[in-house]
Amino acid sequence: MKDYQEQDALVLFSGGQDSTTCLYWAKRQFRNTYALCFIYGQRHSQEVENARRIADMARTPFQVLDAGIISRLAPNSLTDFSVEMDEGKPAGSYPNTFVPGRNLLFLTFAATLAYAQGVKHLVTGVSEADYSGYPDCRDTFIRSANATLNLAMDNQFVIHTPLMWRNKKEVWRLADELDVFDIVKNETLTCYNGILAEGCGHCPACRLRNKGLQEYLAERGNNL
Ligand code: ZN
Repeated sequence: MKDYQEQDALVLFSGGQDSTTCLYWAKRQFRNTYALCFIYGQRHSQEVENARRIADMARTPFQVLDAGIISRLAPNSLTDFSVEMDEGKPAGSYPNTFVPGRNLLFLTFAATLAYAQGVKHLVTGVSEADYSGYPDCRDTFIRSANATLNLAMDNQFVIHTPLMWRNKKEVWRLADELDVFDIVKNETLTCYNGILAEGCGHCPACRLRNKGLQEYLAERGNNL
């Protein structure tokens, strides 16, 4: 990868496994790293406080942006407590954890803030390898959004997606390579039911996270 030691990056940061791994990845790549956390009617506001705590641990400046308008535009189980969460992906449609337009809006907000702060690099933890079928996690969408943001603001943003082609097992491996395996394992909040670290064990996010962890530990154990 190019040497970005003279440049700064803004990480879209939720305090979950993926974005925490991205935060530490960015800290290795860039001169200064900033964390941006969105509020948008999450089920658990402790997600934001946990994100702030991890950013503090990483000595990374932390900003919160209210994107609550997203919650009011379309009903989905992540932002509306009255909608029961899909445990899997219904045939022919997206799970109702899908928030339409979310990543496009987040990237637009992040780029606008980055522009104002003179930051050119954006980092997001989206992945096409283990995704739930969300269209705005795909590499083709990110490339398109990057081009659009550059045209919209006459700027040269670079959107980095270090997890794009990594499944959950490989995201655990990356955390280990960055020497933050224990931080990611013990401090992050991925669970849709708001339970830290290992989580509730049965929501879709927990199942994906724990499956990847077990696969990674099995692989690592064999290589010790
Ligand atoms: Zn859970």
